[in-house]
Amino acid sequence: MSLTDHAPLVGGPSLPQERRLVTPIPGPASQELLARKAAAVASGVGHTVPIHAVAAGGGVVVDADGNSLIDLGSGIAVTTVGNAHPAVVAAVQAQVAQFTHTCFMISPYESYVAVAEALNRLTPGDHAKKSALFNSGAEAVENAVKIARKATGRQAVVAFDHAYHGRTNLTMALTAKSMPYKSGFGPFASEVYRAPMSYPFRDGLSGADAAAKAISLIEKQIGADNLAAVLIEPIQGEGGFIVPADGFLPALVDWCRANGVVFIADEVQSGFARTGAMFASDLFGIVPDLVTTAKGIAGGLPLAAVTGRTELMDAAHAGGLGGTYGGNPIACAAALAAIQAFEDEDLSARARELGEVLVGRLRSIQSSDPRVGDVRGRGAMIAAEFVDPATGQPDAALAGAVAKACIAEGVIVLTCGTYGNVIRFLPPLSIPDHLLGEGLDVVAAALAAA
Ligand SMILES: *Cc1c(COP(=O)(O)O)cnc(C)c1O
Repeated sequence: MSLTDHAPLVGGPSLPQERRLVTPIPGPASQELLARKAAAVASGVGHTVPIHAVAAGGGVVVDADGNSLIDLGSGIAVTTVGNAHPAVVAAVQAQVAQFTHTCFMISPYESYVAVAEALNRLTPGDHAKKSALFNSGAEAVENAVKIARKATGRQAVVAFDHAYHGRTNLTMALTAKSMPYKSGFGPFASEVYRAPMSYPFRDGLSGADAAAKAISLIEKQIGADNLAAVLIEPIQGEGGFIVPADGFLPALVDWCRANGVVFIADEVQSGFARTGAMFASDLFGIVPDLVTTAKGIAGGLPLAAVTGRTELMDAAHAGGLGGTYGGNPIACAAALAAIQAFEDEDLSARARELGEVLVGRLRSIQSSDPRVGDVRGRGAMIAAEFVDPATGQPDAALAGAVAKACIAEGVIVLTCGTYGNVIRFLPPLSIPDHLLGEGLDVVAAALAAA
């Protein structure tokens, strides 16, 4: 008998906040689900943690065998306020009983407008802003590009090395890494160009020099007159939590402004208190023209947005933006509750606290283990890059082995990076201190044993 044979488990912060392994990972109930998955679900949809999840909250994910795993991934930076946050649950329950859908483009409702107002208020800059809501990060990025093209009458878009912007056709073109995101799925959208990213650990360039290099490429290979938008993650996510050198982003913003190019910050992963500020752009003192958001916005419900300068956002004709489900009322209710939690619980401060613990611990591991080449990130978006100490070359096998060993010991960690050699830490901001500490103990032991 597995846990799923009982009444549904209540998740959220009241779940016992402990790492508890009662079977090997995966246990029998998880194995049963994974066998069904293998038979019923397309192989292209992979999974990292071989469990059958049944409840989550605070800092744990509980599986059908009764194992309780420490969550250092937040479902890829989504459950930032915590899984099944009580206020999100209550807002969703109230909304779902009231109405589930009207289609905002058919019969508007208040929660969509309130989410737009909140985004206009919270995103960087005090200029006049408007927002439009969508379902996924990729959809938000696609729409930001549509808006920039319509507003400028230009077509080209610049994205960067190591960028990740999604899996739809346009966003595959914008994403840098072939495997697993693009390989075999072309042809890709045209008028997408790639510029070098500032990657201090590997390029050794100052922010100003890295920006000059990118701008020179843009001017020579595209020409500002043809360029609608420069699209960048202020701190890159899937690409390896790459934090650009100081000055890189401001120089790009200045160049865009001087050349009538729309600067789009993709804050799908870095947004909503994750980096210790509401948006990573705030950390670099930049004001993007358009900001894309998703992941952390709604406590786990699917919602995404483009927010930006009113004159840009209004460039598209009526009916040119939208979608059947975009800004679904249940997702909007969840977002309003999550946004209130970000503000009321000062979760940016919590992210900074968690970041200090993460960086402190990882740097101390690094000081005695040269395989940890770099520790970087901001707030609760921190990564360790693993290298061969002799050559400095990326060591993907080591990152993979450490991540796998952590999961087997009941700690969920995710890898990332163009070279697959980065372990990223994205704990929910609701994780109690003792679980973060215990999770990092497991990481340290896994590395020592690898
Ligand atoms: C995850 C991600 C996306 C894509 O979001 P989806 O909701 O998976 O479509 C886009 N940009 C960044 C920076 C992301 O991290």
